[in-house]
Amino acid sequence: MLNLTPSDIRLGQKFSSKEEAIQGIAKLLAELGAVEAGYVDSMLGRERTANTYLGNGVVIPHGQPQQSNLIRETRVVLIQVPQGVAWKGEERAHLIFGIAAKSDEHIGLLARLTSITADADLAKDLASTTDPEVIIAAVFGEETGAGDDIDDDYAGERVFVKFTNPRGFHLRPASQLAELTEQMDGNISLVVNGREADARSALKIVSLGITAESHIEIRSDSPYATDHLDRISRLLELINDEPQEVIDEVDSAIHWEPVQSESTSSISGTMAAPGIAVGPVFHWNLGSHDAADRKRGDEASECSALEVAIETAVSGLTELADDENMNKVQRNLFTAHVALVDDLELKEAALNKIKEGEDALSAWNAVVTDKAAKLEALTDANLAQRAVDLKDAGHRVSRVLLGEVQDPLAEITAPVVLIAEDLEPSEAAQLSSEKVSGICLRAGSPNAHSAIVARSLGIPMVVAMGDALADAVRDATVLLDASGARLFLEPSEADLESACKALKAIDARREQAWSQRFSPALLTDGHRVEVVANIARVEEAENALKAGAEGVGLVRTEFLFLDREHAPTEDEQYECYKAMVEALGGLPMVLRTVDIGGDKPVDYLGLSEHDLSFLGLRGIRLGLARPDIIKTQLRAVFRAAKHGPIKLLFPMIATPNDFRRIRQIAETVRREVDGPQIDLGVMIEVPAAVTMAPELAKVVDFFSVGTNDLTQYGLAVDRTHPLLAKRADSLHPVVLRMIDTATKAAHAEGKWVGVCGGLAADPLGAQILTGIGVDELSMPAALIPAVKEKLRKANLADLQALAKRALAQDDAVAVRLIPPAV
Ligand code: PEP
Ligand code: MG
Repeated sequence: MLNLTPSDIRLGQKFSSKEEAIQGIAKLLAELGAVEAGYVDSMLGRERTANTYLGNGVVIPHGQPQQSNLIRETRVVLIQVPQGVAWKGEERAHLIFGIAAKSDEHIGLLARLTSITADADLAKDLASTTDPEVIIAAVFGEETGAGDDIDDDYAGERVFVKFTNPRGFHLRPASQLAELTEQMDGNISLVVNGREADARSALKIVSLGITAESHIEIRSDSPYATDHLDRISRLLELINDEPQEVIDEVDSAIHWEPVQSESTSSISGTMAAPGIAVGPVFHWNLGSHDAADRKRGDEASECSALEVAIETAVSGLTELADDENMNKVQRNLFTAHVALVDDLELKEAALNKIKEGEDALSAWNAVVTDKAAKLEALTDANLAQRAVDLKDAGHRVSRVLLGEVQDPLAEITAPVVLIAEDLEPSEAAQLSSEKVSGICLRAGSPNAHSAIVARSLGIPMVVAMGDALADAVRDATVLLDASGARLFLEPSEADLESACKALKAIDARREQAWSQRFSPALLTDGHRVEVVANIARVEEAENALKAGAEGVGLVRTEFLFLDREHAPTEDEQYECYKAMVEALGGLPMVLRTVDIGGDKPVDYLGLSEHDLSFLGLRGIRLGLARPDIIKTQLRAVFRAAKHGPIKLLFPMIATPNDFRRIRQIAETVRREVDGPQIDLGVMIEVPAAVTMAPELAKVVDFFSVGTNDLTQYGLAVDRTHPLLAKRADSLHPVVLRMIDTATKAAHAEGKWVGVCGGLAADPLGAQILTGIGVDELSMPAALIPAVKEKLRKANLADLQALAKRALAQDDAVAVRLIPPAV
């Protein structure tokens, strides 16, 4: 166990910040020959990922395990700070125990420190004593040990677990255990070496001083004790097997924590796009001009003012839609807005109003509001979104009439943190990460379209921040921690420095992944996973290749059918599919037949809302009910398949007979157009298909798992319901077990399995899926480099072990607690 002598103690010190204190403690350790000078960064890094405040002014800064090579000798030092230094929220540190320990030697010290953390008066005395021996005696004098005296006549249930993790029971696993026990009823405790501690308190668990080889007794007096004890034992097994803490380094850039909390007043909200940003404040004040101030002309000049305003708005939007620097989400939005503003009917209606005596602005606003209200009244989610878009696009015309600037960011040269009341989708789409490093909204919602745009641009964004945002002073440098959903108005130098460091680390990782994007996802043992892209349009095929895709795992063809007056013709589809497969230059392309329904409705088919519901005529069911639609599409596909390697995929297949029926139609069409024989696969996205997977695997060529719908149907959670978003977790063992079943069934028949739902792009998800044995992962192109990079660091045996553990859990929270393989 670590010991403390008077020469290891410095009394009566002063620090102005936590960072300075940590530098002081690292310097002392270095002066005493215990560590290399660079250990200070490791200590600062540890503090960012896990605050080391224990209680009653006691803190235990220490380094991260991956830098233990910088430790020359295991040692503990103490710096006493009588006036204290801000450490965690309101809490100030007075006794700073700096630890340099190669493995778990500091765990014993933690147990002894409970003599101080449990006794406020003693802590106060030690914070001001001028005699180092008093502190040594308090900590090391008599055997302290943590916890309460044990009750040997315990009447509840108990189990025994041997703790074997060589790194001891430190704060992070203790917090995980406390998170788990919080959901349980009754008294739950851990007993070690005759001392008992409440299992709902991370600090009390840590203070038991549990080390490798400790025997832990877990107690519960709940009527559901058997279940509770089983869950805790299983979590302890996970902690026992935890690998080296390499994740700390990876996560530190994202889980950024302020170094100094004393000087930082923050405003909190709801995270809409993750990340951190630093920059000067810029207030986005569109709509600041008052309609009453607008001078109105006679009828003729009002009519021409309106026409000019519409033309100006249309040309501005067209320019944005054609801008090569815009991404797909942005360009689609502007293209849609051009069509909404350039609407003859709308213009005529407004001109008529002007002729009836209204001015251009009120006439235009009235017709836009009227049309939007009609769309809203149709209670269709898609049309409601169109109403939002119409109002948004309509504002663009109003702003021209009011003489407002269309691009308030035109003068901006360095990235700002943008502050606004709310952002309309087109306003968000006009932003670029070169000009905006972060967004804070007084109102807004994480599910709004502007949030989707911010995420697609990689701009961190926090919404619903309230009136306090008005305190942000123009040009003042602020720090936005969007992942932590807070804005620091007056960040300290130390915080700015550490945030910039974290940003650099994120960039470096992105660059590293990007530079390796064309290398395959070869695991360290040579096992290969195909990494391919999900696309919906021709340009995306080209972008997929640029991002390192090894082909296309999913073409969502329904996007050709949405937002139009009638279905695309055979030739139109043929040209599109041909262009896509040709763009891939010989790489495989899995094309899914149209998946209309659910959140992708169309109005020209004459189907009711009921028909188009998630459980209605969705996907292949529509194809079977309306052969005209599917036959036209299949003709186009088989014609295009003459130009490149296309595989056909059918959505919403529930039973082998669904597949047989569509296969029969496909074969008839293939002969009609003299198309090539191509592989036919099914989406595994309905639980029924999982149950029937052994039978399906006999008749299809491949499976493609749609985790978005498999999660929705498997857990009975509407995938678009904002209140159920947390429940719709594709890492839930319900979903993972279904994927496992389907994969085994496919492999038993020698067929391959891809995953094209969102789970494939989740770093932990991609690892677990690979461990389950999935052969191909398909995802949005932009995420390919990072997933490839993640997989390259692992080996198959570790991923299989990871998958096995994930499959054995009983909820998604537990799966997320499993440390990733790398
Ligand atoms: C899925 O359900 O996971 C899937 C890939 O299909 P979509 O998201 O288009 O329904
Ligand atoms: Mg689906």
